[in-house]
Amino acid sequence: MSFVFKMFVAVVVLGGIFFLLEKNSASVTPVIAPTLSPTATYSSGPSPESTDSPSPVSTPTPTPTPAPAISITPTKIIQGEPILVQIKTADLPEIKNISFDGKSLGIFSYKSEPSAFIGIDLAKKPGTYKLLATLADGEELEKNITIGMRPKVEAPLGIPEKLGGNTEEAVTNVISTMAQESKTLLGIKTASTALWTAPFRFPLAGKITVTDPYGYVRQTVGEAINHKGTDFHADEGTPVFAMNTGIVRIARLYQIYGNTVVIDHGLGLMSIYMHLSKINVNVGEKVNIGQTIALSGQTGYAESPHLHITIRINDISIDPMKFMAFFAK
Ligand SMILES: [Zn+2]
Repeated sequence: MSFVFKMFVAVVVLGGIFFLLEKNSASVTPVIAPTLSPTATYSSGPSPESTDSPSPVSTPTPTPTPAPAISITPTKIIQGEPILVQIKTADLPEIKNISFDGKSLGIFSYKSEPSAFIGIDLAKKPGTYKLLATLADGEELEKNITIGMRPKVEAPLGIPEKLGGNTEEAVTNVISTMAQESKTLLGIKTASTALWTAPFRFPLAGKITVTDPYGYVRQTVGEAINHKGTDFHADEGTPVFAMNTGIVRIARLYQIYGNTVVIDHGLGLMSIYMHLSKINVNVGEKVNIGQTIALSGQTGYAESPHLHITIRINDISIDPMKFMAFFAK
């Protein structure tokens, strides 16, 4: 039972098929180039205010362009976290492929540098994995990325009366239903280019209060369920905003997830909104950042009103707050 359970409750599986961006020149593609403002520190190239200049008013002498190199943010990574990969001093058309652990990643331009997101699954075995960038001329850049173990946090969680209460029968039903529902969230169609053009924003107005963090293990009746998203405080009926521009891929009611909206932002990046009381958008509809897509609620497996957010990178649910720390305003 435990093994089957673990298999089933994995809301995310590895494996996405990604698409290279078309050969857009970074310098003329402000539309696809995200203008995100990560708060993390990036390794930087030579300073324009180099002290090599003989005089403060003279034009700096040209220096040879450094060879392309891989840069990652953050530099210390644990299970369940997102990573931003950038190829320094390279142009988008120069990059043929970027792969992590043997799987290709979608490539976009960020600050005029070829970039990609990696999602590290909560269940990814800690260890060292290879990041490989293949340049158009055949040159390969390699970087080893070490994934650390996420500290395990457990907390009890009951099953709401509306789903059968704290009985073995109810938990069996919840687990099997959740497994079916999670399958419908895998392999969702994604745009082959980045649809976002601005930093991500939180899905609620005003102060954001996390009521349930990502990554802890909820102990129900004899079973454990990983929480693969973040819960925000939201009273019933609070407007829920699209975290960025994208296309609605799912807008429907589930037994466990409740009313759910999935927005595809392109290149395998998705934001998912659960337990909504009302859905305002339809499948296939293009939504803009900040658009009201729904009202929050407590439909499905929820004991009180709140907004559950999942952020997916290529079918892998990562910590939304970590994502927002790097890729939001
Ligand atoms: Zn949740």
